[in-house]
Amino acid sequence: MAHQATLLMRQFVTHDVQRLLLTRPDGLSWQPGQGLELAIDQDAWRDQGRPFTPTSLLEDRILELTVKRYPEEDGVTEALHALEPGAALLLSDPFGTITYQGPGTFIAAGTGLTPFLAMLRRLAKDEALAGHRLLLSNKGERDVICAKELSHYLGDDLVLTFTREDDAGRQGRRIDTAFLDANIADREGHCYVCGPDPFVQSINDGLLSLGIDPDQLVYER
Ligand SMILES: Cc1cc2nc3c(=O)[nH]c(=O)nc-3n(C[C@H](O)[C@H](O)[C@H](O)COP(=O)(O)OP(=O)(O)OC[C@H]3O[C@@H](n4cnc5c(N)ncnc54)[C@H](O)[C@@H]3O)c2cc1C
Repeated sequence: MAHQATLLMRQFVTHDVQRLLLTRPDGLSWQPGQGLELAIDQDAWRDQGRPFTPTSLLEDRILELTVKRYPEEDGVTEALHALEPGAALLLSDPFGTITYQGPGTFIAAGTGLTPFLAMLRRLAKDEALAGHRLLLSNKGERDVICAKELSHYLGDDLVLTFTREDDAGRQGRRIDTAFLDANIADREGHCYVCGPDPFVQSINDGLLSLGIDPDQLVYER
């Protein structure tokens, strides 16, 4: 892989998501929303690259990745969650088709938030948050990544929905076509979609059935 980095520290963001702060390799550049491949630079792991999305700003002097742990035997995310500061990492050049195209609605499930977290942080820094809404699906409240930060950025344009909870004042349901119909911010705006493949497929189908033009859809192709 093209770049080397060192783990500086890691912190829990939710019960199963950690923020990894790395040294930022010279010469690594990306657009908010793009992914890159990461491998632990150790014999047992070097050939096991996995895609993650930088969530720090390009101008930050560190590189942040926001990583959910899947508790599989020999899983890379499990190993990343236990990695000690000072560990060497390998990073690829960025890739991916989720990049910012203009105002609209971000629609995410779980760690599908990460490309939109990167974009929202960019928009916040540029004082350009108006005209954006986030529809975010999680299993429960404890799974929401950076909830306070998102709420600070978006206010009422943060729409949380939980598949396994029905708290007072919350929407305890999946994002289906009726939900999209009620919550899409602007039918003329872009619709950004990220999450597990079946989620992306069903959201895209729902958006198209609501008359959203295919050119308005931004997702990993
Ligand atoms: C372009 C891109 C960007 C990504 N960015 C991020 C990011 O910023 N943060 C992050 O936490 N993850 C991100 N992911 C997902 C991440 O790459 C996987 O979670 C990781 O590769 C799992 O590696 P593992 O070796 O621990 O688990 P594996 O052994 O590869 O898989 C473990 C188990 O988890 C399931 N699984 C793995 N990934 C997913 C998923 N995305 N959705 C549902 N089930 C899954 C598998 O089916 C399997 O059962 C991204 C994926 C892509 C394609």
